[in-house]
Amino acid sequence: MLELYKELGIEEKVYRFGQQVEDSLKERFAQMDQVTEYNQLKVIKAMQKNRVCEACFYPSTGYGYNDLGRDTLEQVYADTFHTEAGLVRPQITCGTHALAVALFGNLRPGDELLSPVGKPYDTLEEVIGIRPSCGSLAEYGVVYRQVDLLEDGTFDYEKIKKAINEKTKLVTIQRSKGYQTRPSFSVKQIGELIAFIKNIRSDIICMVDNCYGEFVDTIEPTDVGADLMVGSLIKNPGGGLAPIGGYIVGKKEYVDAASYRMTSPGLGKEVGASLGVNGSFFQGFFLAPTVTRSALKSAVFAANIYEKLGFPVIPNGSEPRQDIIQAVTLGTPQGLIAFCKGIQHAAPVDSYVDPEAWDMPGYDSQVIMAAGAFVQGSSIELSADGPMKEPYAVYFQGGLTWEHGKFGILKSLQEMVNAGLVKLPE
Ligand SMILES: *Cc1c(COP(=O)(O)O)cnc(C)c1O
Repeated sequence: MLELYKELGIEEKVYRFGQQVEDSLKERFAQMDQVTEYNQLKVIKAMQKNRVCEACFYPSTGYGYNDLGRDTLEQVYADTFHTEAGLVRPQITCGTHALAVALFGNLRPGDELLSPVGKPYDTLEEVIGIRPSCGSLAEYGVVYRQVDLLEDGTFDYEKIKKAINEKTKLVTIQRSKGYQTRPSFSVKQIGELIAFIKNIRSDIICMVDNCYGEFVDTIEPTDVGADLMVGSLIKNPGGGLAPIGGYIVGKKEYVDAASYRMTSPGLGKEVGASLGVNGSFFQGFFLAPTVTRSALKSAVFAANIYEKLGFPVIPNGSEPRQDIIQAVTLGTPQGLIAFCKGIQHAAPVDSYVDPEAWDMPGYDSQVIMAAGAFVQGSSIELSADGPMKEPYAVYFQGGLTWEHGKFGILKSLQEMVNAGLVKLPE
């Protein structure tokens, strides 16, 4: 084993340090196996109930009327997440698009949108119009309000209560921290927030941006009162096999409203050919619980490696996980670049290139990204990215297999060692 690692550029001291850390995580990994077993059964149960069959994998073309696979898949998602309805489509291009479709479909001019959890994910700023942008909700007269989290990362219930008024139509709650250094929320915390909001006005639509959260826990936001839950298929639920797509699940009324925005008023869910992706959507969803576990193991491994070396990590090495993202504050541009290089050089695809920072659409500073992925930009595959600004934090996620995740982290560590940025304990 050591010989093979050496051939792949990992020095013995880096390998040994990794082994020590891995040995200390046995119990933690066993707990993850339990969650995975539960979620695997949950998905199989939904597939059996909906009689998934070979014909579900046949492609449809044109309008895509009566696409058996598409309609069955949407019911499988709905049943897995315990909701009335689902919209799961290759026509939804990414997570941002799924969130935009859910928001535009359910908000009307004069309505207010509230984020009670601080600033949303960067790309949502342009959807909402926090940063002026062509076609934003703001241009359509939807008012945005935001209540920031308290110093300790918890909800500011007093201010949230004040921000809610008769015009508040939809509350958006982002589970994962995204590119921020706040903690991600547990499903239980989200449930408490939703209960608080529903207690003030029960008709407010509570939507959760569940990107990176699926199958991390045995319950999901829709199990604790969320009316709508939204995510990307090139993250957890696509299981690494979905080549594109997003999903929206929740109350039928709100999912339908989103579908009229996705296609057209009057058409909604009835159209949208699946063009042959159904097989990968089903199989990816089937694999998603185990793939999410690989990503989680990799994240916990990274947290423990870098914590031991003195870098601030969120979440820390021992706290419970709410998503698959691991933030490591590297503190310097050189550190951020070295880390990303390591992840890139460990990839099965494009391993020979060096990542460089660029002005990525939708972000307000340069971003550096490392990904040697089978699906472009897929962040359930081993990947790392971070904005080129203080505090030079890298956001690391994914790993279709734990073994690849481990190799990637060792490679990142090796790059840091080579650049003289860390010294391993003797
Ligand atoms: C990734 C992500 C999005 C956007 O998804 P894309 O597929 O990149 O458009 C939105 N919210 C959160 C929390 C995310 O992690």
